[in-house]
Amino acid sequence: MLDIKVTKTANPKAKPEGPLGFGKVFTDHMFLMDYTEGIGWHDARIEPFHDLTLSPACMTFHYGQTMFEGMKAYRGADGECWLFRPDMNAKRTNNTNRRLCIPQLPEEDFVQAVRALVSLERDWIPTAPGTSLYVRPFIIAADPFLGVRPSETYIFCVILSPSGAYYASGLEPVGIWIEDDYVRAVRGGMGFAKTGGNYACSLAAQVKAHDGGYSQVLWLDGVERRYIEEVGAMNIFFKIDGTVVTPMLNGSILPGITRDSTLTLCRAWGIPTEERRISVDELIEAQRAGKLEEVFGTGTAAVISPVGKLRYKDEVFTIGDGSIGPLSQKLYDTVTGIQLGSLPDPCGWRVRV
Ligand SMILES: *Cc1c(COP(=O)(O)O)cnc(C)c1O
Repeated sequence: MLDIKVTKTANPKAKPEGPLGFGKVFTDHMFLMDYTEGIGWHDARIEPFHDLTLSPACMTFHYGQTMFEGMKAYRGADGECWLFRPDMNAKRTNNTNRRLCIPQLPEEDFVQAVRALVSLERDWIPTAPGTSLYVRPFIIAADPFLGVRPSETYIFCVILSPSGAYYASGLEPVGIWIEDDYVRAVRGGMGFAKTGGNYACSLAAQVKAHDGGYSQVLWLDGVERRYIEEVGAMNIFFKIDGTVVTPMLNGSILPGITRDSTLTLCRAWGIPTEERRISVDELIEAQRAGKLEEVFGTGTAAVISPVGKLRYKDEVFTIGDGSIGPLSQKLYDTVTGIQLGSLPDPCGWRVRV
């Protein structure tokens, strides 16, 4: 158990009114903990939200030795506050840390830090439909040093941001750009890790997709540019001729918690599922044969994001009639129902704050 020292703000902010958007408003407090080689993690504390003061030589600025997580706290109709599978975020943190030579963080300490901060800030959890309190834990290398090696000091920080409904008016299908030039990750690289560098290298393709009128990029594998990997910040699923297919975890895609929950639910419902390699050619063939029934992304932000349109090279494919598929809708309703406490939780995914 961490001994968390709490310093409360003397000047609580007014809660935002009107549409929240995403990631712009922060709550009154933050969690901080330091790591020093030879000592380990120390000085767990909650402090008023404030800027960090770092040397311009801080290693994280130069070499990107950093990681992050993303999760949400929800308030149910009965006023209860919930987290969704926080143990999975804690486990993934350590998988990311291993790849980036960041020290391990005990899973129970990660979960305790998040719970303590969310509990203190529970009045910041918005209640309008679709809204939640976004939780952003992250670790940065802190040594003021320009040499290249793992840092000997780190900062673990958790900040919270009330966020608006991802969909303003119910689920809406998105258009996706299949990127055939830039790649995001290769096997042996750090594609499975939640780290800033994976996002930095995705921006050029994202700009290209946006300029083309598409909201997200679908990445192909980094070697042959043939096999489907994942979407920007979501994993991708296809329903082909009654079977739910998603790319297997091969080291270059992010093992999403929503991906895992989706597979678990589909299996419980008796829908055949496959985690395997799937090529863009197979996908287009299925589409041409009328067998591509649904396409959707999965991730904490959108939960389930139905895809209405795919673009590959110069062709545009409309999935089904371009509207939301029944499986996408059922998954969205079920996952959000479990998250908010309005549906039974047979797998024990919900954790009370
Ligand atoms: C976070 C993330 C996902 C989705 O993971 P969830 O745990 O479901 O939120 C998918 N792809 C990438 C690249 C991500 O960073």
